Amino acid sequence: MGNWEANVRKVVPYVPGEQPAEQNIIKLNTNENPYPPAPGVAEALREMNIGKLRKYPDPTCKILVDAIAENYGLNANQIFVGVGSDDVLAMIYMTFFNSKEPILFPDITYSFYDVWADVFRVPYETKPLDENFCIVKEDYYGKNGGVIFPNPNAPTGIYMELSEVEDIIAHNQDVIVVVDEAYIDFGGASAVPLIEKYDNLLVVQTFSKSRSMAGMRIGFAIGNEKLIKYLNDVKYSFNSYTMDETALVLGVEAIKDKAYFEEKCEMIIATREWTKAELKRLGFSFGDSKSNFIFATHERIPAKELFEALKEAGIYVRYFSKPRIDNYLRISIGTDGEMFKLIQFLENYIK
Ligand code: PMP
Repeated sequence: MGNWEANVRKVVPYVPGEQPAEQNIIKLNTNENPYPPAPGVAEALREMNIGKLRKYPDPTCKILVDAIAENYGLNANQIFVGVGSDDVLAMIYMTFFNSKEPILFPDITYSFYDVWADVFRVPYETKPLDENFCIVKEDYYGKNGGVIFPNPNAPTGIYMELSEVEDIIAHNQDVIVVVDEAYIDFGGASAVPLIEKYDNLLVVQTFSKSRSMAGMRIGFAIGNEKLIKYLNDVKYSFNSYTMDETALVLGVEAIKDKAYFEEKCEMIIATREWTKAELKRLGFSFGDSKSNFIFATHERIPAKELFEALKEAGIYVRYFSKPRIDNYLRISIGTDGEMFKLIQFLENYIK
């Protein structure tokens, strides 16, 4: 036996939420959108020119980049696209987090951040959220190799005011600051306008949540032209064709339909607020989520027990067995009907 294992890049991988095969479960465990993508997506899929699949897709992703740029009133050279925001974030780590100083992110946050740090050998330091699960902006003032945080944060759902986000960017102008806005469309103010003021800011968004396209894998970063050029240089040095033809064509349709997007976001927000009131009534407490999920703890019944009982009943939510959050459930917002069934089950169980 040779010693080849000594040189394996060993990592502890990120564990995504379960995707059970059964069809008749209520799936509130991965923050997917309960509604289908915009109607134009289905139409474009039906009409897709299959003959085009013979050829490689456009490596510059022009049609999709242009559609995203138009949606935000920006130039195409301010947009970078990838295979979900996970791919975009991984590219950002590779491109910009190369300092000997540690990058900074919260102790409770998207659990992919430390996985990328490990796989790309990026030193990192976590900064504890306060007792209300809020980011403490002053913790990010010191010397560092870059800053990354979601707004709203995950899995807490807690939103940070844009003035505080700007304060963190302003205090870190010698490194890249990444604001991961996977959930921004559910009630927060985006940091996108700040890219004109700060050339070290990257805002990352996704089609997976507010645009109902988690299965299509489309994410994007918005930043100044120079940052986007550096990202594309790394992408083209890694895989020229990250975005397939289908993603390009269907992505355009998804972002074009603003009315559908707004209607569905408003529906999810309304369902979230109804769910908050019901959960409160049943003895749950939680921070004020501005995302498409609620991170809640019960006054009496341990989260793990509830998680298991819900699963047994065919209702999947997310439970993290991690310090500080092991008595919380992260409950994605489904349709009104799904949330009603969740509340009904919890009401009976808690009684
Ligand atoms: N950022 C955050 C904070 C998330 O919760 C997720 C969803 N798992 C992502 C990024 C990645 O989403 P996607 O790759 O589907 O765009």
